[in-house]
Amino acid sequence: MKVFKFGGASVKDAESIKNVCAIVKKEKSLVIVISAMGKTTNKLEHVVNDYFNKEDYNAPLRNVFDYHKNILHELFPDEKNEIWPTFQKICDYVELYLKNDPEKDYDKTYDQIVPIGELLSSKILSSYLSLSGINTNWLDIRKILITDSRFRKAVVNWEESEKNTQNAIGDSTAIFVTQGFIGGTSGNLMTTLGREGSDYSAAVLGNMLNAKDVTVWKDVPGILNADPRYFNDPKKLDHISYKEAIELSFYGATIIHPKTIKPLQNKNIPLKVRSFMNPSEDGTMVNNDTTDDGLMPIFIYKPNQVLISLSRKDFDFLEEQHLSDVFDILHSNKLEVNIMQNSAINFSICLDYEKKRIEQVVSDFQKNYRVLYNANLELLTIRHYDVTSLSEMTKNHEVLLEQKTRSTLKLLMRNLQE
Ligand code: ASP
Ligand code: MG
Repeated sequence: MKVFKFGGASVKDAESIKNVCAIVKKEKSLVIVISAMGKTTNKLEHVVNDYFNKEDYNAPLRNVFDYHKNILHELFPDEKNEIWPTFQKICDYVELYLKNDPEKDYDKTYDQIVPIGELLSSKILSSYLSLSGINTNWLDIRKILITDSRFRKAVVNWEESEKNTQNAIGDSTAIFVTQGFIGGTSGNLMTTLGREGSDYSAAVLGNMLNAKDVTVWKDVPGILNADPRYFNDPKKLDHISYKEAIELSFYGATIIHPKTIKPLQNKNIPLKVRSFMNPSEDGTMVNNDTTDDGLMPIFIYKPNQVLISLSRKDFDFLEEQHLSDVFDILHSNKLEVNIMQNSAINFSICLDYEKKRIEQVVSDFQKNYRVLYNANLELLTIRHYDVTSLSEMTKNHEVLLEQKTRSTLKLLMRNLQE
């Protein structure tokens, strides 16, 4: 069994769906894990926000429906195709859901709406493959990947999900199409695994099926040593180890979701990152072998960071018990620390700036601590850094915090040109 994961960019229009069809045409014993088409997840987040704030959500919702409808018209001109009523059913479900008053819990509300992106894309792909003569089984992952109800950061119940995966797929030689990013609770509520979570879904399924390998198809040639959105002339890494890959994703390289590596490493399943635009090229191979790690510096850039500094109100020391309190508060707000530093009376943490969560955590901290914070910062991490790369990177920036180990340099900076 093999697992292929296709992200939003690889299924963003009718042409791309045809391209996926060409890539999987010759395969058998394959599970295809798919994300929502194009920027659908972002658009659905708008719908959720407008609905939750009791504003008019119709424009973004129509936008999602029309976008999919246009693709359907191109792929299935015959309106008798089974995809048409399926599409309508999913649209009806959301419209009906949105007629109720919003629940109190934002994350729970989000998870009952946003997953329709993946339901739509997987239905469309599966129907199009069938139409092209490739027989597929569409799998409802909500009944297979069973999670807890930690909405928007749901945790997979490994034992139950593994049983379900084996029952649904096992060692079948068929082609399956299913949804990434989403799961379901045992009480039939939808859950999501965190933004960009489809890679993780693919890795979890790969693990549970003892897959031969897992391939993530991307719009870049493979894993690059720098993000082409922010750096000139990035170079492809032909091969890196699981260890290097997990470090990169932990520091914020967006090419793979941070949780993707562990399920694969645990069973020694190779991960391939390949270009859906050049499917004949090899891409990057990630496995146990560490010999190629560190051959060139790797740059990871994370914009939109906030630095929060905490101190005790009475100029007291920050002791271990306070640190444990700080981490409890972070955990209950579902926030992860990107870099931290302590002194006698200060504890500083750098986090991704997610407006709602940051406002909440600041207000939680303010009950017991003095809180200062700085937003709009950039976190640059360089693995295997060299001196020449450094001066270029820090030009026009003020460095607020710096941390160095033998292999990794982290700089939290403010851009002075903005
Ligand atoms: N569609 C989801 C997102 O955009 C999950 C994914 O693409 O991995 O975050
Ligand atoms: Mg995506």
